[in-house]
Amino acid sequence: MPTKEGVRVRAKTLGRQCDTYPLRSLPIDIYRAGIPAVDGLRPDKRVRGGVKLLDPARPLERFWERLAAARERLLVLDYDGTLAPFTTHRDDAILYPGIAPILLDLQRQGTRIAFVTGRPAEELARRLPLSAVEIFGAHGHEHLAADGTLTRAPLTPPAREWLDEAAARIGALGFAGALERKHGTVAIHWRREDQDGQARLMALAADLTQGLPEELHGLPFDGGYEFRTRGRDKGTAIAALSARHPQAIMAYLGDDLTDEDAFAALPHDGLAVLVRAEPRPSRAHLWLRPPDELRGFLSAWMAAAP
Ligand SMILES: [Mg+2]
Repeated sequence: MPTKEGVRVRAKTLGRQCDTYPLRSLPIDIYRAGIPAVDGLRPDKRVRGGVKLLDPARPLERFWERLAAARERLLVLDYDGTLAPFTTHRDDAILYPGIAPILLDLQRQGTRIAFVTGRPAEELARRLPLSAVEIFGAHGHEHLAADGTLTRAPLTPPAREWLDEAAARIGALGFAGALERKHGTVAIHWRREDQDGQARLMALAADLTQGLPEELHGLPFDGGYEFRTRGRDKGTAIAALSARHPQAIMAYLGDDLTDEDAFAALPHDGLAVLVRAEPRPSRAHLWLRPPDELRGFLSAWMAAAP
């Protein structure tokens, strides 16, 4: 049984790992080196749609012009923390007010809307006001086609066994409520735990990282830590969409560290949008604060599309 001090030290160590943990095998610190300082954001950088530019080389006006001229428009969205606020209980996460009607209007207008989420794809489908949308779930390990066909990335027996065992250990510690088991992944959510619970879960996550089989890796997210099989992430989902719609002008909206893979995988003329109450170092071109600026952006998309 680790001492309290031991738990704190190990949790601190994990915190440091989180800070530099590889996303698409690049430490986040390297991302930081290559992006404009968020402190440099100024209110006069605001442009139509209430959006703040993170990358001055990417004026939003030019994106709207390309969108207006595009033969195909593709809007790809994360859900939790982006379109819906974080809640203590994940089941309570519903869309910000006013978002559902805009999404429905955009779809009617001809914009193709797709989702890329950490949730299981079918679970997200049940929460959406839209029908016949494509969803990449479990961070790209699942794909739900618009016609309802669900496919899952293959999982090796050792990976499955390790994930089962990790899930059992989390449950055995009395944290079944913090556990989320999905296809190819196990996530530990410590957001709603008290300080002691958070420290214990961080220590457990640190322990689990020691025995990870080759085909799995561990990644931090906002409010927790996740173990996943390699080879699929939000970036591979974006790459799949982009390959199938090479003519489309596309944007991706996301809030979390896992969304950085999606930002990185966008085609060169794609738009990466960080949706978040506070800015953070990111590969995104734009930052907007939900829900007002999010609504503003979606309405501006609507206005720009013919
Ligand atoms: Mg999110």
